[in-house]
Amino acid sequence: MKTEKEQLGKYILKSNFASILKTEIHRRNITGRKKTTYTDLYEEIAEHTGMTPNMLMVMKQGNANPSLPNALAIADYLRMDVNDIWSVEMNDEYVDDRSRCIVNRCNRLEFVKGLCQSHYTEQRREEKRK
Ligand SMILES: [Zn+2]
Repeated sequence: MKTEKEQLGKYILKSNFASILKTEIHRRNITGRKKTTYTDLYEEIAEHTGMTPNMLMVMKQGNANPSLPNALAIADYLRMDVNDIWSVEMNDEYVDDRSRCIVNRCNRLEFVKGLCQSHYTEQRREEKRK
């Protein structure tokens, strides 16, 4: 049976969203007069991004990730670099067992009949010339 990390594939999405929100609330509460809560922040971000406050809460809990446009909109609203909130890491448990091109030293992914796309195209062109 595959481990959870193996099932993720080649990439792992790492989220700092929970700690970013915590820091943002802390920052506001030491500088502002009015106390900011998670609910306030969810509502603000939701209004800016078109997401729902509930979606943001689920994401903060680590049970979902945003779409790429939503991630960018959230980062924009928080005036942060999106990579500081979500980052892509390589999964070191990933095993790529997909077939490779049989042409010597090519090693590109197989497209069809044991060949990569460019070697297959090349072979078809040669066949037409005959
Ligand atoms: Zn090839």
